[in-house]
Amino acid sequence: MSELVALEREVATCTRCRLAAGRTQTVFGAGDPHAGLMLVGEAPGAEEDRLGVPFVGRSGQLLDRVLFEETGLQRSEVWVGNVLRCRPPGNRNPLDDEIASCRPYLDAQLDLIRPAVIVTLGNFAAQLLLATKDGVTRLRGQQHRWRDCVLVPTFHPAYILRNGGGDALVAMRADFVRAKQAMVAAERYPYPAAVVVGHQPSQPAHSAARQP
Ligand code: SF4
Repeated sequence: MSELVALEREVATCTRCRLAAGRTQTVFGAGDPHAGLMLVGEAPGAEEDRLGVPFVGRSGQLLDRVLFEETGLQRSEVWVGNVLRCRPPGNRNPLDDEIASCRPYLDAQLDLIRPAVIVTLGNFAAQLLLATKDGVTRLRGQQHRWRDCVLVPTFHPAYILRNGGGDALVAMRADFVRAKQAMVAAERYPYPAAVVVGHQPSQPAHSAARQP
């Protein structure tokens, strides 16, 4: 059994925080266990709790689309997870003690998968990993050094959907271009680097007119 599978089994029975009481199942994360790119969101929602898979529904569809259109990667070629592995009731925000309780699992996933690039989706993952109170609007638009990885903060796809796309979607696309460039620089992009030519973060390849 791989260490990641063993960790998943441990998480499935976790009762470290109050969220264990209300979950249908844990949402461990999914994707390539050797991925060069890890996406970290916030917490499972109702559908994720029901299916045990992160980022399903409209948010997941938007994420998959931006990921593929800006990096050329399918979801199965990256790792997708969250700060929390159980659904907060009513989709409320994660609480500090819940985040602290679940943090060791995120750290363990990062240690086992060893991505070169991390894209954080929304405030919670960026603030947790960068140990800051700054919001994603301030943090995004640049690459941050995180341990031996490059961390690229961007908006949560649910935020993009709530705001109808627009500038936030353009910004998210540019951030995924940054992530791809960081993968290429780290020699962890799985395809020929020439694919990157023409993609510049300041001029996203896709127009603001496209709505989620
Ligand atoms: S959210 Fe994390 S720490 Fe809390 S019960 Fe679920 S797996 Fe355990």
